[in-house]
Amino acid sequence: MDENPRARPGEKLTLGAALSDAGSPIRRAWPNRCAVCRNDTQGVGQRLCADCVARFAPHEARCRLCALPLASPLGVCGRCLRDPPPWSRAVAACDYAYPWDGLVAALKFHDALDLSGALAGLLAARLVERGSGEEAAGRPAPGEPVTNGEATAVDALVPMPLSEARLAQRGYNQAALLARALGAALRLPVRDGWLLRIADTTQQATLPRERRMANVRGAFAVEPRALPLLRGRRIALIDDVMTTGATLTEAAREVLAAGAAQVQVWVVARTPD
Ligand SMILES: [Zn+2]
Ligand SMILES: [Zn+2]
Repeated sequence: MDENPRARPGEKLTLGAALSDAGSPIRRAWPNRCAVCRNDTQGVGQRLCADCVARFAPHEARCRLCALPLASPLGVCGRCLRDPPPWSRAVAACDYAYPWDGLVAALKFHDALDLSGALAGLLAARLVERGSGEEAAGRPAPGEPVTNGEATAVDALVPMPLSEARLAQRGYNQAALLARALGAALRLPVRDGWLLRIADTTQQATLPRERRMANVRGAFAVEPRALPLLRGRRIALIDDVMTTGATLTEAAREVLAAGAAQVQVWVVARTPD
């Protein structure tokens, strides 16, 4: 405490003063540089500034079922009308493009674990926006608390699991980190372990689109002890990126077959078609 030049002898240093002082040990230990532009975000531990969010994750109407950008608000795209996915709603915070692709890769492959909070915050803000056709007036600024509401009416967040081999190799599951941060923001329980990845399939990214569904068939199972807990529940599957949706489709089918009442999929980024 006496390292702080602003604290006079005998003066009690408040947390607020420590946080507003760029030289304080707390501020040095807890970076608040925007992960995109490197500017000071003015918030402790906050890794995205409001300018970058407004610029790179603008409000965009998306298909309620596949989360691809859509011209008409609150609608469903033609492809989903013809061939609907097994879930009732898909939400993506942004396109899988600059700068989000880099941040997701950093979280996934470079141990940038502190980014999970920022990316989950982006998704939380998107989830609580008032209807996707309206102005983004209901969207909280980064770092502002989000409130849980009808838009997030689910009973549990279930992160997309990694196989044991992949988990051992990486050391953590980025989807579980995102789910945890999202659960804290939205005050929803996280059930990591309800869904298991029982087959270590070829990485989807290396396969052509038409082979991805077959590649993940039978890859998931609901943990037997979770079966009675899952029955009748509304589940949100959490993942970092949705590309073709094949992996999420297989997981959603498994969760529904186990008796879940409803499945939504919530992802940080959606690969544009
Ligand atoms: Zn920024
Ligand atoms: Zn669609």
